[in-house]
Amino acid sequence: MKIARVALDLPLHEAFDFRVPDHEEIAVGALVVVPFGRSRRVGVVVAHARRTEVPPSKLRDIERRVDDVPPIAAAELELYEFCARYYQRPLGEVIATALPPRLRQVSRRSIRAQPVGAPHTRVASAEPALTPEQRAAVDRINAAVGGFHAILLHGITGSGKTEVYLRAIAAAIARGAQALFLVPEIGLTPQLEDLVRGRFPDARVVLAHSHLGEGERAGAWLAAQSGQADIVLGTRLAVLMPLRNLGLIVVDEEHDPSYKQQEGLRYSARDVAVRRAQGLGIPIVLGSATPSLESFSNARDGRYQLVTLASRATGAQLPNVRTVDTRADRPREGLAAALVAAIARRVEAREQALVFVNRRGFAPVLYCRSCAWHSTCKRCSANLVLHLRSGELRCHHCGHRERVPNTCPSCGGIDLAPIGHGTQRIEESLQAALPNARIARVDRDSTARKGALRGVLQRVRAGEIDVLVGTQMLAKGHDYPSLTLVGVLEADSALFSVDFRASERLFSQLVQVAGRAGRGDLPGEVLIQTDFPGHPLYAAVAAQDYTAFAVEALDERRAASFPPFSHLVLLRAESKATGEAGEFLRGAARSARALARDAKVEVFDPVPAVLERKAGFERAQLLVRSPSRAALLAFLPRWREALGRREERRVRWALDIDPQEV
Ligand code: ADP
Ligand code: ZN
Ligand code: ZN
Repeated sequence: MKIARVALDLPLHEAFDFRVPDHEEIAVGALVVVPFGRSRRVGVVVAHARRTEVPPSKLRDIERRVDDVPPIAAAELELYEFCARYYQRPLGEVIATALPPRLRQVSRRSIRAQPVGAPHTRVASAEPALTPEQRAAVDRINAAVGGFHAILLHGITGSGKTEVYLRAIAAAIARGAQALFLVPEIGLTPQLEDLVRGRFPDARVVLAHSHLGEGERAGAWLAAQSGQADIVLGTRLAVLMPLRNLGLIVVDEEHDPSYKQQEGLRYSARDVAVRRAQGLGIPIVLGSATPSLESFSNARDGRYQLVTLASRATGAQLPNVRTVDTRADRPREGLAAALVAAIARRVEAREQALVFVNRRGFAPVLYCRSCAWHSTCKRCSANLVLHLRSGELRCHHCGHRERVPNTCPSCGGIDLAPIGHGTQRIEESLQAALPNARIARVDRDSTARKGALRGVLQRVRAGEIDVLVGTQMLAKGHDYPSLTLVGVLEADSALFSVDFRASERLFSQLVQVAGRAGRGDLPGEVLIQTDFPGHPLYAAVAAQDYTAFAVEALDERRAASFPPFSHLVLLRAESKATGEAGEFLRGAARSARALARDAKVEVFDPVPAVLERKAGFERAQLLVRSPSRAALLAFLPRWREALGRREERRVRWALDIDPQEV
């Protein structure tokens, strides 16, 4: 009897056994349709077996093989098995994360690899002559071919990292290999796709991200798997795409938190990419102006090669960064006089300015001056944000919306006032202060329509916009030669966060956004409005010395035994009923302590989550830490099983390995 073990997308860690009909040969890695209960499902054969524990009366036949999709190769199955073990998730779920939704449908029309042959443009766009630093970086990457090497490309903003990636990719394609180019969010940098297609007119480029249509995504997947695609340009999910002939991985902005998926398979695409390169024996390039402390530490310890680009490719200088003391220069409508004057000078000189406010909406909260009522979400422990344009109060956590009240819901008074400043309000106050300036706002609200962001960015490029106001969407990757001033508002709150990564994130965000200024011939200036002008973090940003910041931050991490000097796991739990999540976690902590008695695993006490209530669920978390990855990996499956046995169905829980937000 031939038995196939089939991984299915179910919350169970075992594969399911099915009989293979006698006349059939079904390879490991093949997609199959199997009966399941009264329905059918698509699964993947992960092993063959000669016998099974399933009693003959219960054993069912594989219904058919999915034959328009070639089997998943051994190297990829091995990667998925690694992810399952490392992230403590069922293999079937990992595979389901890797497979486009269309390919998981039982009945669908047949799919062919996306026709990627048609060249986008005929003539390759010109490549600039490399700077000596870029040349050296490309040489180092090309010298790494033939084995696993992780190269951390630490290049300041504007140093021309993209050019280095493109040359390394060109070399990979010339060797006949495929290249995987990962970026945090494709939608934010529409120019990148144009750049890649323009540079490689004869190469077959496919995109892989979650905003593609289902058919397109499945077609891209097949093109990658079959080896037809030369370049896969994608977001984190692309790291799991099968690539028959992968020869190079590039992870741009490797520090970016969006490489970490925050639900389901909570994987870090950067970490999985490194593991994948290691498994295949190929080079991987991790690039950033502000590398994650994990990667920097790996480079310092010699596990990664460090390659540095210390000057801007165009010869431009880094911008001059200063703080504006808002205790002395009190902001009016969110804007200090020094910043308004600086923006006005740019508008007059026909240069451009960018104002960075990391809050969308008009104001973070609506407040009653008579009774101190303020707008809060009934389902979350969060304020409702005032969106004046649409006349709504909105919760940015659960999506709840309601009309802005005309009178105070608590006392009936009419003295309601917005407190604080979001992008909409800053846009309005800027327009009032500079009536002739052409101002555009970029945030999730203003760019919800497809193509909207691309449109705004084109207008900036064409010089039709003087001032951009926006959220972190503007911090990434954009390159505007006439942009000479960056203003930063409302950054102070991040100085006092409880998360041990908060200062790393703020530093990187500020350096990235500052890096938008002065990329052309004109020098750039950055003004940070703050009540704490003497804060060391702002001094570090002003000094633009990443290495000094990183060395000091790593010393602090070591003293506190936080990553990369330890490994963390967070058990997250939530429940509708008050107290249940905490109760569950106290039990979980007891079982962890029992299991970890002699292992090098430290179990903290449960605490409420930062956002304690979300969408009606009360949330809490329990941190587990170990200096040893091996000890943790030995402990986790046993703990997970103990948790699974507890009949706490009203509590939803999940393990988050290497959590980004603690
Ligand atoms: P980074 O990603 O490192 O911040 P970019 O890749 O965006 O930097 O490059 C910054 C600017 O420098 C871009 O306008 C790019 O076209 C330009 N550039 C890159 N390499 C060169 C080069 N060798 N010569 C001239 N300009 C270059
Ligand atoms: Zn009131
Ligand atoms: Zn809410």
